[in-house]
Amino acid sequence: MEKIWDVVIVGAGPAGLAAGIYARRAGLSPVLLERGLPGGQLMETDAVENYPGFPEHIPGPELMDRMRRQAERLGAEIVMAEARALTREGELWRVEVPGGAYLGRTVILAVGARPRELSAKGAKELTGRGVSYCATCDGYFFRGREVLMVGAGDSALIEACFLAKLCAKVYVAVRHPKDDPNAIRAMAAVRERALRNPKIEFLWNVVVEEVKGDGKVSGVVLRDLATGERRELPVSGVFVKIGNVPATDWLRGVVELTKEGYIRTDRWLRTSQPGVFAAGDCLEPVGRYAQAVIAAAEGAIAALEAERYLSEQTIGSREGEGIGPKGGS
Ligand SMILES: Cc1cc2nc3c(=O)[nH]c(=O)nc-3n(C[C@H](O)[C@H](O)[C@H](O)COP(=O)(O)OP(=O)(O)OC[C@H]3O[C@@H](n4cnc5c(N)ncnc54)[C@H](O)[C@@H]3O)c2cc1C
Repeated sequence: MEKIWDVVIVGAGPAGLAAGIYARRAGLSPVLLERGLPGGQLMETDAVENYPGFPEHIPGPELMDRMRRQAERLGAEIVMAEARALTREGELWRVEVPGGAYLGRTVILAVGARPRELSAKGAKELTGRGVSYCATCDGYFFRGREVLMVGAGDSALIEACFLAKLCAKVYVAVRHPKDDPNAIRAMAAVRERALRNPKIEFLWNVVVEEVKGDGKVSGVVLRDLATGERRELPVSGVFVKIGNVPATDWLRGVVELTKEGYIRTDRWLRTSQPGVFAAGDCLEPVGRYAQAVIAAAEGAIAALEAERYLSEQTIGSREGEGIGPKGGS
């Protein structure tokens, strides 16, 4: 008989690992499915300065290793497997992975989202060396310097204002002309705040063609979309906010998603399906910040809500019904 888990958690980033920790502390049997290395996006950053509890900065991989070890010590099982499909099976949920499946009474989707990458020449090589996808995380390293923000949506302009408090100057590259009413896709209040900020200069109708630097960013090549003219702009940092890509393709038609693919939940992190919860950067971004501490907190909420859901269910006794060897708190 296939083992039945109290909760199948998909994704072992901050949200999934925190969900695993809280699920175990609530006496549930969780299994975490992770398609890459456990740890999620923070595995890519050298220094996390804003996660509470670490007065000196902590390298992302070390922080995530600690979370993983904490979850495993408490008895959460982590399996390297990519979730490919989610289907209902009676009262249970079936999560398909290559060569098998995991059955859960509940599911927590903690699959994260990746920032859409800048395709300009040199951007990939210089990521982490002056090209950053997170001003809240990395802005501090550029205090007193001149930087460029690529993007003109809400997140880009909010982060440009944030950077303006630290940096000498913030350029904002917008790929539409100034008189295009859709050039800035941010809320009016955000747009006005950015436009009025004396440290922010908008560069209209340009694209970043190349990020230059030998080991670290020294500037960018901008192309004017009207004239085709190229010019070099010396900056120390290039921040990119051109959208995110949530890892939810396989969930289309299963749980309700926004048109961009983010998972819709209520305030208790319940998705449109009973017993399926979601946490972290895969959630609809309105009113939330893509930060590890927030993802971890949502993972905790989702696990506690899964426990509440299970305790309200009458699908048989928990004892001896497939609770794994690590059952119990
Ligand atoms: C370069 C960088 C630096 C950052 N620095 C900071 C910082 O200093 N401070 C801060 O607070 N935040 C920082 N962030 C943001 C922070 O990393 C994210 O907000 C946080 O990781 C979101 O956690 P999550 O668990 O929701 O998602 P993720 O961290 O994205 O984890 C999701 C996990 O799910 C896995 N997964 C996805 N789909 C599947 C599937 N189908 N099956 C199995 N596994 C799957 C992925 O492999 C991944 O491991 C940074 C982000 C980046 C990219």
